[in-house]
Amino acid sequence: MHDTPSDPVSEASRRRTFAVISHPDAGKSTLTEALALHARVIHEAGAVHGKAGRRGTVSDWMDLEKARGISITSAALQFSYKGAVVNLLDTPGHADFSEDTYRVLSAVDAAVMLVDAARGLEPQTLKLFEVCRHRGIPIITVINKWDRPGRDGLELLDEISTRIGLKPTPLTWPVGIAGDFRGVLDRRTGAFIRFTRTAGGATVAPEEHLAPEVAAAQEGDAWTTAVEESELLSADDGDHDQEQFLAGRTTPVLFASAVLNFGVGQLLDVLLDIAPAPAPRPTVDGGARPVDAPFSALVFKVQAGMDSAHRDRVAFARVCSGVFERGMVVTHAGTRRPFATKYAQAVFGRERSTLDTAFPGDVVGLVNAQALRVGDTLYVDQPVVFPPIPSFAPEHFAVVRAKDTGRYKQFRRGIEQLEQEGVVQVLRSDLRGEQAPVLAAVGPMQFEVASHRMENEFSSAVLLEPLPYSMARRTRAEDVAVLDAVRGVEVLRRGDGALLALFPDRWRLSSVQREHPGLLLEPLVASA
Ligand code: GDP
Repeated sequence: MHDTPSDPVSEASRRRTFAVISHPDAGKSTLTEALALHARVIHEAGAVHGKAGRRGTVSDWMDLEKARGISITSAALQFSYKGAVVNLLDTPGHADFSEDTYRVLSAVDAAVMLVDAARGLEPQTLKLFEVCRHRGIPIITVINKWDRPGRDGLELLDEISTRIGLKPTPLTWPVGIAGDFRGVLDRRTGAFIRFTRTAGGATVAPEEHLAPEVAAAQEGDAWTTAVEESELLSADDGDHDQEQFLAGRTTPVLFASAVLNFGVGQLLDVLLDIAPAPAPRPTVDGGARPVDAPFSALVFKVQAGMDSAHRDRVAFARVCSGVFERGMVVTHAGTRRPFATKYAQAVFGRERSTLDTAFPGDVVGLVNAQALRVGDTLYVDQPVVFPPIPSFAPEHFAVVRAKDTGRYKQFRRGIEQLEQEGVVQVLRSDLRGEQAPVLAAVGPMQFEVASHRMENEFSSAVLLEPLPYSMARRTRAEDVAVLDAVRGVEVLRRGDGALLALFPDRWRLSSVQREHPGLLLEPLVASA
């Protein structure tokens, strides 16, 4: 193998593909903008989602998104940094879209867990952390907003280890308490990295590395305390260990102020240093696809109507092996049909740009991807199938009907489209019929999105009638008759063929389990 720029092995080795997981308001958008500022942005694929009125909004393709000031779409931001190529995949911040986030996390090699210094671990962070743990994704923790009064550093570490069982191994340690941010002690070199306030964080903050003696003279007690605490951490096994980190047992920690651009360059350096590069990807047959195998990719997101001018459908695929070249004809593993990639893109939203080449770890947007669904594998030459992306356990259910029954064709097409995109899960039964399927969601906002799109994109306004269920369990065909006879329980079939038994609450579920111990009632991938 030659070490040319198009060698997938060397290209993969200089790539870092990650996502930020956090609770809303922890500073994810601010950090994303700051990262882009520190690096040279190559591609912006609908990722930087400013809050209403903020700059950098490129994913405002949907009115609803604009009205709520949240990002519903997910895509990728690609930038170069010190010779590396970094792909930052966007994850929707709203809890209702955790299913979407789950899919994005199936396409990354590492995650950054962003924690608000004053709030510590919050519900959405915990949920997303569980997804990362489930997938074995290594996590780098960033404690943000250290420029503002917050909790004690050691106390935050304690919360991380006791609540999620990850051993924190700080790479930097703050000098000065939260709200009195002087800088950080670089625990690997012992140097003091001084924090310099820049006006509004608008420019890349200069990072001065000073010798410990200089820090001691300048910062006095704040420095002494930081050194003492750092020593305490070392004595307590709190030093970075690469193997433990990659195994998902420890989490390196950095302290930052995203809004003032401090710690952002350090985060990029750490990503380059320790985050894993794209590696051979496990396949359904128990093997793994090496990065230098012929091209293969996993579809992790499908989206329609991203641009109201072009009512098209874009499938986002993460390259797993080989080199992607625009125009190549790939095979869709599910149907074995060819798929032409003439319209591969890297930029979405208002601006679009064509993408010509991509390597393992990169995200390719495939336009006119009518046949592609979330979880699909694409390949050339050597067939491969990657394991499907599991669906989340839905907790909200509603019957959906066309308001105008004369528009049934539009209704059916719209529902199918939303189902394929994974906007909502669609459950059916002979009893309910095709005209009144059941929508199932992790969060109720998914219903809002579905109903909005049915009306605006498919010209089929819908009526939603909530159902009194809150839990779903996977069952099997031979148990359906028994379950159907139980009052308040219903069995429906999901698009992927799974049979889901719906229960009003967990008390009903446990009483059914007690009365019929032989039934298969398997939990689905939980969202919490
Ligand atoms: P997101 O919901 O996680 O994307 O959070 P945003 O990036 O929108 O940030 C939420 C709020 O926190 C905004 O008002 C930011 O200006 C503010 N913020 C973000 N990072 C910092 C920080 O490091 N320090 C301070 N003081 N405020 C911050």
